[in-house]
Amino acid sequence: PAEGEPLVIVGTGLAGYNLAREFRKLDETTPLVMITGDDGTFYSKPLLSASLTHGKTPQQLATASAEDMARELNAEILVRTHVNDIDTESKILTLVPENGSHSAGLRYGRLVLATGAGCRPLPAIDGDGGARLFRINSLGDYHRFRTALVGRRKVLLLGAGLIGCEFANDLIQAGYRVEMVDPVDWPLASLLPEAAGRDLQRTLEGAGVRFHGNSRVTALERRGAGIRARLDNGETLEADIALAALGLQANTGLAEAAGLETGLGITVDRRLRTSDADIYALGDCAEVDGHQLYFVAPLMACARALAKTLAGEPGDVYYGAIPVAVKTTLRPTTVCPPPAGAEGSWRIESSEDGVRAEFRDGDGHLLGFALTGAAIAAREELTAECAPLME
Ligand code: FAD
Repeated sequence: PAEGEPLVIVGTGLAGYNLAREFRKLDETTPLVMITGDDGTFYSKPLLSASLTHGKTPQQLATASAEDMARELNAEILVRTHVNDIDTESKILTLVPENGSHSAGLRYGRLVLATGAGCRPLPAIDGDGGARLFRINSLGDYHRFRTALVGRRKVLLLGAGLIGCEFANDLIQAGYRVEMVDPVDWPLASLLPEAAGRDLQRTLEGAGVRFHGNSRVTALERRGAGIRARLDNGETLEADIALAALGLQANTGLAEAAGLETGLGITVDRRLRTSDADIYALGDCAEVDGHQLYFVAPLMACARALAKTLAGEPGDVYYGAIPVAVKTTLRPTTVCPPPAGAEGSWRIESSEDGVRAEFRDGDGHLLGFALTGAAIAAREELTAECAPLME
């Protein structure tokens, strides 16, 4: 890069900030500019689905302000500013501040996209209850939901995936009643074999969660101060407020418009390089060597590898087996899903105390696992044995 031109990182989520921290350990002087559409608060996003029980306010989850981070990182941080164009020829970003002032250009030497993922679009739902349906993917969303919950008792939860199950676990322990609806047969069905999913379902139901599997919400209507949902099986459910946890999708729009290669996420190789030699990507927005993972552990591995590359010691990222702790504290659960399309079968050991499920191929190689309850003690042993995601 030309002398003096900054390293620019778009996004101040865990990917952007952790990359900046790792980079500053190796390079204290290269000018660093970070840009974010939000207010640049540093917080741990996974806590959003595990904080109602403890009555945590958004302020308590915020560990550092943008000003604190700018000082720590010796960086300029532009908040409430959207990047809406990348001119890859002249290496200029178009910045649009939220406060209505004129857009401005910013020249970059090297550019990193850490633009995260947004909530997947909602399926078609009839009715006028949409305004009472919340989604949580940022500290601001958490604040809005928490405010709307005041004085409410019953929550309709759409989605029984990882984040849906965590919210069910959190809401029920915070004293709310929970109706959870999902078209799948058992909670976490895309990650857990039936025995482990049913085990989690029993625990959540034992705590008071009502699980409606094999069902979709087709209509959501206002009813007084609350809502009424119609399910495709004809059932109706009443609640005060609704929360949708229907999965994420990588924010690739900016990259696509700039002509960068994208798939499920922004396509990068193991050096975190996009199809443009001076642009990199990591975190929820990036598909790294074919792996699109919405978890913290892989983005930390990417942040460390990319920091080295940007500081002049090029190296590849490596993904081993990546187990994920589901924050269903009522029934601790860990899952290390087998790669999509892997051939093999689940072997299950089930007891009152928990489920140990191992996904092995025909030769007995461990390709993935799922553990609930006391069986999570086997996490380290199975992680060490499990096939890595990357060679
Ligand atoms: P984000 O946090 O989404 O940050 C994206 C940043 O990009 C933001 O600063 C945004 O303002 C900025 N941005 C985007 N586009 C633009 C633009 N055009 N211009 C300017 N700025 C832009 N993972 C786990 O491993 N374990 C868990 O237990 C876990 N629990 C979770 C619970 C919840 C409720 C959620 C939502 C996620 C959870 N995850 C968990 C996933 C994990 O939180 C994410 O993988 C991680 O936080 C992603 O960080 P990121 O920096 O890539 O993206």
